Parts: sequence; C-alpha cells; structure tokens
Amino acid sequence: MVTSMDIGVWILLFLVGFIHSSESKYIAYNTTSTIVPGKLNVHLVPHTHDDVGWLKTIDQYYVGSNNSIQGACVQNVLDSLIPALLADKNRKFIYVEQAFFQRWWREQSEVVQKTVKQLVNSGQLEFINGGMCMHDEAATHYIDMIDQTTLGHRFIKEEFGVTPRIGWQIDPFGHSAVQAYLLGAEVGFDSLFFARIDYQDRAKRKDEKSLEVVWQGSKSFGSSSQIFSGAFPENYEPPSNFYFEVNDDSPIVQDDINLFDYNVPERVNEFVSAALSQANITRTNHIMWTMGTDFKYQYAETWFRQLDKFIHYVNQDGRVHALYSTPSIYTDAKHAANEAWPIKTDDYFPYADRVNGYWTGYFTSRPALKGYVRWTSGYYLAARQLEYFKGKSASGPNTDSLADALAIAQHHDAVSGTSKQHVANDYAKRLSIGYTEAEKTVAASLACLTEGATKTGCGTPQVKFQQCPLLNISYCPASEVNFSDGKNLVVVVYNPLGWKREDVIRIPVANEKVVVRDSNGKKVQSQLLPIPDAFLGLRNYHAAAYLGISPSVNPKYWLAFSAIVPPLGFSTYYVSNAKKSAYKSGSQSDGFEVGLGNLKLIYSGKEGKLTQYINRKRKVKESLEQTYKYYPSYGDDGTITAQASGAYIFRPNGSSFPIKPNGKSPLTVLRGPIVHEVHQKINSWIYQTTRLVKGKEHVEVEFIVGPIPIDDGVGKEIATEIKTNLTSSKTFYTDSNGRDFIERVRDYRKDWNLEVNQPVAGNYYPINHGIYLKDKSKEFSVLVDRSVGGSSILDGQVELMVHRRLLNDDSRGVAEALNETVCVSDKCTGLTVLGKYYFRIDPIGEGARWRRTFGQEIYSPLLLAFTESEGNWGDSHVTTFSGIDSSYSLPENVAVITLQDLGDGNVLLRLAHLYEIGEDIHLSIKSSIELKKVFRDKQINKITEVNLSANQERAEMEKKRLVWQVKGSSREPEVSRGGPVDPEKLIVELSPMEIRTFVINFNH
Ligand SMILES: [Zn+2]
Repeated sequence: MVTSMDIGVWILLFLVGFIHSSESKYIAYNTTSTIVPGKLNVHLVPHTHDDVGWLKTIDQYYVGSNNSIQGACVQNVLDSLIPALLADKNRKFIYVEQAFFQRWWREQSEVVQKTVKQLVNSGQLEFINGGMCMHDEAATHYIDMIDQTTLGHRFIKEEFGVTPRIGWQIDPFGHSAVQAYLLGAEVGFDSLFFARIDYQDRAKRKDEKSLEVVWQGSKSFGSSSQIFSGAFPENYEPPSNFYFEVNDDSPIVQDDINLFDYNVPERVNEFVSAALSQANITRTNHIMWTMGTDFKYQYAETWFRQLDKFIHYVNQDGRVHALYSTPSIYTDAKHAANEAWPIKTDDYFPYADRVNGYWTGYFTSRPALKGYVRWTSGYYLAARQLEYFKGKSASGPNTDSLADALAIAQHHDAVSGTSKQHVANDYAKRLSIGYTEAEKTVAASLACLTEGATKTGCGTPQVKFQQCPLLNISYCPASEVNFSDGKNLVVVVYNPLGWKREDVIRIPVANEKVVVRDSNGKKVQSQLLPIPDAFLGLRNYHAAAYLGISPSVNPKYWLAFSAIVPPLGFSTYYVSNAKKSAYKSGSQSDGFEVGLGNLKLIYSGKEGKLTQYINRKRKVKESLEQTYKYYPSYGDDGTITAQASGAYIFRPNGSSFPIKPNGKSPLTVLRGPIVHEVHQKINSWIYQTTRLVKGKEHVEVEFIVGPIPIDDGVGKEIATEIKTNLTSSKTFYTDSNGRDFIERVRDYRKDWNLEVNQPVAGNYYPINHGIYLKDKSKEFSVLVDRSVGGSSILDGQVELMVHRRLLNDDSRGVAEALNETVCVSDKCTGLTVLGKYYFRIDPIGEGARWRRTFGQEIYSPLLLAFTESEGNWGDSHVTTFSGIDSSYSLPENVAVITLQDLGDGNVLLRLAHLYEIGEDIHLSIKSSIELKKVFRDKQINKITEVNLSANQERAEMEKKRLVWQVKGSSREPEVSRGGPVDPEKLIVELSPMEIRTFVINFNH
C-alpha cells in the first residue's frame, strides 16, 4: 500500500533530481520551412480582421477606447507586429484594411517607416485586398467599390511600390459576381478568398472538394476574367483549439520538459488530425489555416511564439508539413499543382448560415444611411469632375475627405446597416463632413466657370453658390427667397454624364408669382405643385433634428421646369417674380387617366388604386396593382434555437399582411404641363406620390414610410409590391453591385438542390440598380435609388423591402435591435424613410435601354447650385458650358465614371460601357470615344492604360495573369475588348461591360 506521504516524498526526490540533471535552456525553433512536394503542406497565414467600424467606431477601434464594448485596439496590433516580425525573418503577416494602416503609417517615425518598408520588400509583411476597407458585396455600388479600392491601392503603390495580389473578402455576408470578375480579375488579383457561403452549398462543396473553384463572374468577358477563388471550410478563424491571443484558452505548446503540463506530442497530434481532416475536403496537398480573427495580434508575439513551436515540432514529427505562408504563396502553390478546377458562374447570394438564418435583411437595413451613401456617391462623381475643371487645390477645399468618408462607408458593417447605432451615426457624420467640403469645392469651381476664368486663372471668384443637400425633404433656403424685390434666382444645373440631357428640376418656392427663364431670357414652361402637409411635416421635423433650426419660411409649392443640359456641362435658368399667379389647380373624376405623353396610368377612382399601364406608342397595355404590405418580424420565441429577424437576418413570422388605406383615402391628382402626380395617403405613416413626367416613359414613385408602428410589440418589415400579369415562370433578374444582371429562379439554386425552409427570405436578393422579369411579349423593370432587398415572390410580381423596424437582436454579433429613431430635443420617433423607385413595361427585348441609360441618370442626378442676381446675370457670366467639345457627346452606352485631377499633374479617367453583351441590339456594341474631343482645349502628352484600381499598367497586369485549368471544357464564345489606344488618334474603344482606366498627362 502506498501512502500519500510516500508519494509526496517521491515527487520531491524526482524534482530535485531534475533540477540537478538539466535546466531550462534556449530552443532554436526551426521556422525556415518552405513548401515540400509530396507532403501535405499546411500554410499558416497569420492575420487580423480589423473591421472599419462595427461595434465601435473606426476611431475607437484604432486607439482602443470604449473597450467595455469590445477589447480591440488596432494600434496595438500594428505596433506589436513589427518587433514580432523582426524577431524571426521567417515569420509572415498579411495586413488588409488600409483605413487603419494609413493612419498608423502617418504616425510612425522615419526609422519605423524604413523598417516596415524592408518588411514589405522581403515579403514578411504583405498587403492583401488593399482597399480602405473590406467592402460589403451586397449593398455596394460598383463605382464605390472601385473608388475605395483605388484609394488604398494607389497609396500602397506610392509608399511601397507594390501591388496587392489577393482578394481577401473573408467576412462579407455573401459574395457578388462583380467582386470576382471586376474587383478581382480586372484589378489584377490572382485569387479571391472568403468564408461565408450558404450552409447547404458549403456541405455539398465539402463532399465534392469544390470549395475552391475557378470563378467566372462575367457573361460578357467569359474566361478572360476568371479568378481562382476559395471558400474556407468553416470560417476565417483558426481550427478550434488553435487560438493564441493573450486571453485565449487554447492550450499553448508547453515544450519545457522541466515544467509540468508538457504537451508537445498531444498538440502535434491535434495539429496533424485537424490538417488531415481539412485535406479530406481539399484538392491538392496544400491547405490554408487562417491563423487569426477579429482584432487579434494585439500582442503579436503570443501568436508567433506558438506558431514557431508548431512549425518546429510538426515538421520534426514529419506526418504533415507546416510553414509560415501567405495567401500569395498558397495561390502559387495551387497554381503550380496543375490541377483542373471546377467552374463557378453567377454569385454566392443569398447567404444562409443555417435553417431560418437567411442574411437577406441587411439588403435593406438602415435604408436612410443606404440612401445617403448612394446620394453622396453620385455627388462625389460630379464633384471630382468640377474639381478637375478648376484644378485641384492641395490645401483645400477639395474632395479628399468625401473620398475617405465614402470609402469607409463601403465597409461590410457600414452601408450594410449591420453596425451599432452610434457607429452608423459616425459614418453619416463623416459623410456629412466630407460632403460639406466637397460642396465648397463644387461652389468654387462653378464660380470660376461662370466667371469665365480659365483653369490657371481662377483666383478668388466673387460668386457664392449655395446648394441644397436637403432638397429631398423640400428644404432649400436658396430657392425659398422672396422674388418680389426684383431679385433673380440663378439656378446653375450641372450634368455629370457625357450626353445631353433633359430633366425636370423641382425646387421649393415661397409664393406662386414666379416665372422661369432660360439663359437667353426666354420664358420656359413651368408648373407649381402644392407641397402636401406630409412633406412639410417631414421638412420641419428633420430640419430641427439635423440642423437644429426651425425654418422661418414654409414654402408653398414645388416649382417644376424642364432643364436641358449639355454633356459634362451646365445650363443656367432664372426664377423671378411674375405679375400673376402661375398656379393652376388640377381636377379629378371617378376612374381617371394620368400622363402627359405616350405613357398613361389608369386609376379606379372608386377603389382609389392604380389598375392599368398603357403605352400606346410601344403597344404595351398591362393590368397592374401597386400596394404596400408588411412582414411581421419573428421575435424571440424563448427557445435555444430562437432565430429572430434582425439587422442581418430577415425572418418573417408567417406570411405578409396587406397595408390597406385607412378608411376613405381619396387620391389627389395634380396635373400640369410638366408633370402629373397622384398623391395617396395610405395610412398615418405611408404617403406616396406617383409621378409621370413630360418626355419620360416611366413611372416614378416617391414614398414616405415611417415611423413604423411597434406599439403592438411586433417588429415590421415594409415592402411595396407591384403585380402584373406577366407569366415570368419563377424567373427574375437582379443586378450585381449595379452592374451585371443575374438570373434568379424562385426556390432554386444552380449549384445545389435547394431545401426550401424560408420561401420569402430565401428568395430575397440585393438590388442596387434594378430588378426585372419578362415573359414572351413583355419586360417589366423596376429601378431603385439606393440598395434594397427585393424579389419576385409570385410570377409577374416584384417586391422591394423599403424599410424595417425590429425589436430583437438576431444573434450575429451586433447585439442591438434595429430600431432606428430620430430625435428632436430628447423626444424620439421611429425613423421615416423617403425614397424613390421607378418602373416601366417594355415590349420584350426593349427594356435594357431604359434600365441602362436612364439607370445611369438615377445614379448621376443633375447637380443644382443657386445664387441671387439683381441685374442681368448673363451679361457678365458664362451661362452655358460643356467640358467637352461642343459638337461632341459620348454615346449613350458609355459613362465617364471617373474624371479626377490626381493632384500630381495627372488625370485619372475611367470610362464604362453600360451594356452587357446581347442586352440591346443597338447598344450592346463596341463604342468609340474620341479623347481629343473629350479634352478639347488640351494636348495629351502621355496616356497610359492602367488596371481598374490604377496601381499598375494594364499590359503589365495582363502579362502576370495566372491562367487556370478548368474541369470539362465548354466552348467559349468570342470575347470582345477594345484595342490599344493609338497615341496619335487617341480613340478609346469599349466593348460591352468593359471599363477602361487611364492615367493622362497633359502638355502645359
Ligand atoms: Zn468584419
């Protein structure tokens, strides 16, 4: 029998013996390993995922404040990383989010900067993705994605002389075709990695070893824009039990035999078994482990110490081979393996992480922020053009701070609507600050141009232009002036598109005695529309909420008139006092028709609703109905598996409820020479205006929705729907980031046999630009003014979710219910959303022209600037201007999506063909742009075609492009791209869907 005393004595003797025989000593870990052929290579990729705002603001994450919400400090990550990398030259790290990196970089000494440059040169530190943020892929517009990527990529190129090779979209909630082919292949990336794909899709891909594919996201470009893409087996974190932040509880490698808990064999076994299980679902003998996750490496040494040991002991063991790696090294290994990969077309939307867990709510979450992002994006495009005409001012004001704010707003918790409320407010604040500075830039440029100053000669202009960013709520002090004292209101209307445009301008005015004249002094037709009380309430409440003021004037009317504006140029109109009232009231009857031209809408006055759409010229006649409904949100049912609807997830509790007009709600019809409007107060919180505008053959619907009532304790998600009789056979089309249209089939996925458990939420898709459906004879298209979620839940029907107000969190991390409010002196009400959508019905084959060309006009509205004048403005000012040759205009299938003074003597020009291959018989063709006419007064000294993010020459990028083998050879259609630009002729050709980017230098 052994007593406890005996054991104690024995242990004591044992320890004494140990201390005498061997002491702890230095172990040189061998971390030099590189790829070993014939073995399973485990690529260890140390990384951190630093959200550019989510639970904390970007500033709080950077400095590490507000840590009671989340212990996260990016400064710690970057500070601790440098010594950890210097400690062993085999260690590697990737860094992603440039919004953080650039800030940190500016704060470093020259010595540290030099060290970091050496780490980048040696490949120890690699920039991956390289945009300012890891942008969302559902609610983002492609122009914003390009801009934010360019901003990051050009910085990296200028400071470090390198170009990121890898797309790293590890956290966004579903993945778009545009990300793969445009922000991937066309940027020059060799591969794209991500984590979140549908759980059913993932299961099948694991079985078939098809998590890694060659993704061909574009119909128009075919194989020329393929990219190698890998979905991670689970998420972007390490295998479980391999987390090594200071507070993590994974067992560390205890390899000091003199101490207790020595565990090298166990840890090596665990490593090998995790590697083998991943190898089972992966082609080739290369697997990647993402060693890190959100805001990790705050004390980088804790991770690297463990990784050093794993590499050392696992390789001593020899069953598998571990190495420090990066996604670039991994990609090269995959490429060298000479494997043929499965092909993937279309995209990875929608994303569900489990039964009832469809991440389709965020397509609509925070609709006002989404609207603000889209509006500032369009403004930024125009502002850069005007900044270019004037010449960029380095000391400001300029468009740089709007560029930064917009870039950050593309983050996958920003425009997606999935941040906490205080962070959403921070994004909006940054946009507002950026806008204010851009507004000054625009005002200065327009002042210079109207004063006739040349680019070099614009000193301090006299004219002070005002703009009206709150025009959407009919708040525009500049136009609400009293004209009776003989003053003229000068309205300068700028058109950022390359073609001449006629559009209706609407501004609020204080009285009815007004007249509008063009720059020749000729009277132009105008119309006054009384501003409804619903609008005035909205205006006064939000002027108080956002500006802290109570407007002293209440405008009575919207003044509407048609403006004709040259390409990349402006026209001038004058509003002044008239002798008599310009207002004529409309009439109304039972069963009536509205519309000024070819398009008529027929209403049943008795029922108070729209019944028919008729375009005689196009021989289209269709019965239709347009209504609102709501989905009651699934709440907390008290079960462990409860899945509520929330900021990310859309989970309706049963079917939708129609929102019927409260009692008798007569339609109000306003008719005039410019516009016909039908006003409907649907209930106390939905107001709608349906508008038919002179010269346009589409319907514009403006809605005011909110505050959504929740006093019954039920969250609600509001959708508008239009029902037609088109036999669309479950099929509809939605855009990818405002660019390519992708075919969707209800309750169906191309890549796997879908098990339907959410018949509505599982059929929702992101809509940035539009949605359409068709049958044998007609196409029905709907275009939007911001990103929303939508679907076709029934044949012939389209629905858009326009607003949501929820009472529960959906357990995906944000830990807040999406219940937005607006407050005036501490009294808060639910958020009201004002937005627009547009619809139209065309004969089959004729819808693309409207979707594309008019669609671009929605993105780029006319920009208005106002000033007052007492005398004859035209005598001393330029009243019409076009930035391009006056005899020239761009074809309607091409848009200038970037015209930017880079501030270094160069100009960045990006031209986008707006049509896909085969979309329109006249416009899906190759177009030519004459740069000599675009830059009419200038001489091009040098023109260089660059890649999409403008960080390398296009030819250089093409030379480096990796070509991948694809399983099963399909016959490739001929891919068309424009030819090289002859430096003498200076003509740029663009094929369908082509975007070409140039850096241009002018002779001075
Ligand atoms: Zn994230």
